[in-house]
Amino acid sequence: MKIIPVSEGSFTIDKTKQFVPFDDSTDQLKSRPAGSLLVEIQPFVVITSKDVLLIDTGLGFADNGGAMQLVKNLGAAGVAPSSITKVLMSHLHKDHAGGVSDETDRSRLCFPNATYYVQQRELEAALEKGLPSYIPDEIAALRSASNVVLLTEDHGIIDNYIEYQVTCAHSVFHQVFWIRDEGEVVFFGADDAPQLSQMKQRFAAKYDHDGKKAMELRQDWWEKGALENWTFLFYHDIKTPVLKA
Ligand SMILES: [Zn+2]
Repeated sequence: MKIIPVSEGSFTIDKTKQFVPFDDSTDQLKSRPAGSLLVEIQPFVVITSKDVLLIDTGLGFADNGGAMQLVKNLGAAGVAPSSITKVLMSHLHKDHAGGVSDETDRSRLCFPNATYYVQQRELEAALEKGLPSYIPDEIAALRSASNVVLLTEDHGIIDNYIEYQVTCAHSVFHQVFWIRDEGEVVFFGADDAPQLSQMKQRFAAKYDHDGKKAMELRQDWWEKGALENWTFLFYHDIKTPVLKA
């Protein structure tokens, strides 16, 4: 499988839940509000023998001309947006789901040729809870678009090779994915396993829906991944987006 991280850049986030761009060459973390976390925002493209997968969709910011940054970044990485065949959504927080729909017309999904896979209960919870963690306008189109599969099970297999498991850890109905193709396993733990450093230390995060569960899952995955040679994708890691165990 070919893995292409499609970074939207680095950001800090504090308790206001605003993502503020962070430029490593000019910005200092200590000049940001106390408790700010430094995170990358990086959707992934995984090219398998069957599909061009997009995994999560980033903040969904547009440039001044209204062009979606995600679409531009895909183009720069040599991936035609029209070639994406499946979009896998771990959860619908705004830093993962902003690029679901088009900034200039939120009733239009960004990738009309793709099938989107979304947990139905996560979508319902997101639309009900709304700001500041979710932006209903950006994701409401998922409810009625014809190219969306609303998953209702806790666990299942998509197209005979993509396994999903609902964890209810980082968000209420957060899910994670294993992609098994040509003898390889790619694991996307999304915000249950957002950064490499968190895999190695026992740490229950306050920002998680169930921090203790996320902590325990990370430990399980880290051990199992080492045994089975998983490739980990870290959505929020500044330095190590991809790690082969
Ligand atoms: Zn996130």
